[in-house]
Amino acid sequence: MTIAHHPDMATLIEYAAGTLDEAFAVTVSCHLEVCDQCRKSVRSAAALGGSFLCEETGVEPLGEGSFGRLLEKISAASETPHTAPDRVSELERGVTRGIPLALSGYLDTDLKSIRWKRIGPGVWQKPIPLSPGASSSLRLLRIAPGRGVPEHGHGGQEITLILSGAYRDEIGHFGPGDVADLDEHVEHKPQVVSDEDCICLAATEKPTRFKGIAGRLLQPFVGI
Ligand SMILES: [Zn+2]
Repeated sequence: MTIAHHPDMATLIEYAAGTLDEAFAVTVSCHLEVCDQCRKSVRSAAALGGSFLCEETGVEPLGEGSFGRLLEKISAASETPHTAPDRVSELERGVTRGIPLALSGYLDTDLKSIRWKRIGPGVWQKPIPLSPGASSSLRLLRIAPGRGVPEHGHGGQEITLILSGAYRDEIGHFGPGDVADLDEHVEHKPQVVSDEDCICLAATEKPTRFKGIAGRLLQPFVGI
């Protein structure tokens, strides 16, 4: 699997710090299953976070030269495989088959048996229920070859992981394992360029709730 697009470093640092909301954390976890590069970044960020914590609490003050040694340790840790080679290939096969491990606890079926809900021409979705306190939303999207999602901006951050198929937008070509990590300033019009349906996992901040009867009628159309 060749991965060209990764989450932003800020997103990986938030993941390492445990501050990403549930939908984003699940999506980043799924990407980490197949991306050695981002696993290393998260480990480094977690190690650095731990060192700052020690410094703050005075547990282990950093003396002269110790920061250099710390970086050496982080870099040595990054060289150590996070998972055994057999495990990595098993995970990659899992994604090729359909569902990443981090998502499997949220779905009681495989990708082929999902009951999709049509939300537009050639576009289907499957909302993924999260914990009651989650402030983000998670859904699977399935888009037919040649189809696209209408041009849209975002009410907030949106992280999309491609599980199968591929699409192209103003940013580039996105295939399996690739992540589009977009903020509210990005407007794009993804179009599926694969022969098969493109299936993505999309995490979004919960859309603003509209008030009043007109707002409630409008709400179902702005959730994407
Ligand atoms: Zn990555």
